[in-house]
Amino acid sequence: MTDAFDDLLSANRDYAEHHELGGFDGIAHAGVAIVTCMDSRIDPLRMVGLKPGDAKIFRNPGGRVTPQALEALVLGVHLLKVRRILVVPHTRCAMASSTLDELRARVTESAGQDASWQTFGVVEDQEAALLDDVAVVRTHPLIPDTVAVGGFVYDVDTGRLTQRA
Ligand SMILES: [Zn+2]
Repeated sequence: MTDAFDDLLSANRDYAEHHELGGFDGIAHAGVAIVTCMDSRIDPLRMVGLKPGDAKIFRNPGGRVTPQALEALVLGVHLLKVRRILVVPHTRCAMASSTLDELRARVTESAGQDASWQTFGVVEDQEAALLDDVAVVRTHPLIPDTVAVGGFVYDVDTGRLTQRA
């Protein structure tokens, strides 16, 4: 066992002392699901005034509607009371400002070995990708028209969300 997690486990002991979600049902209390990027500048709950328990959050590089994101959204809508879905890529996202070759070259340099086989979901046109992703969710056969689906861009410098779809 490593001590690499000691600070986090110590913090968790404090957290557990004040934990208030015990026995919680796990539904999305605000009826919200958010698909967004893994970027650490994004605080997906607080940026829309929510708190733990309110929303389902699915994150990946770029905030894309992948098959796994769709799986989460279908579960959210049918089992966890999701009624509003936000797809939220962001400004200055590495996945939208790098080419596949660039990312592979950077990882190859960091890893000290060839990374040309590694897949990365780079986004060539963030606006077009967002419109596509929103359309994929809206037209999914298991996501009914009663669910509101919106596409937004989060500005990591101002904290503002702008609706694009
Ligand atoms: Zn990003």
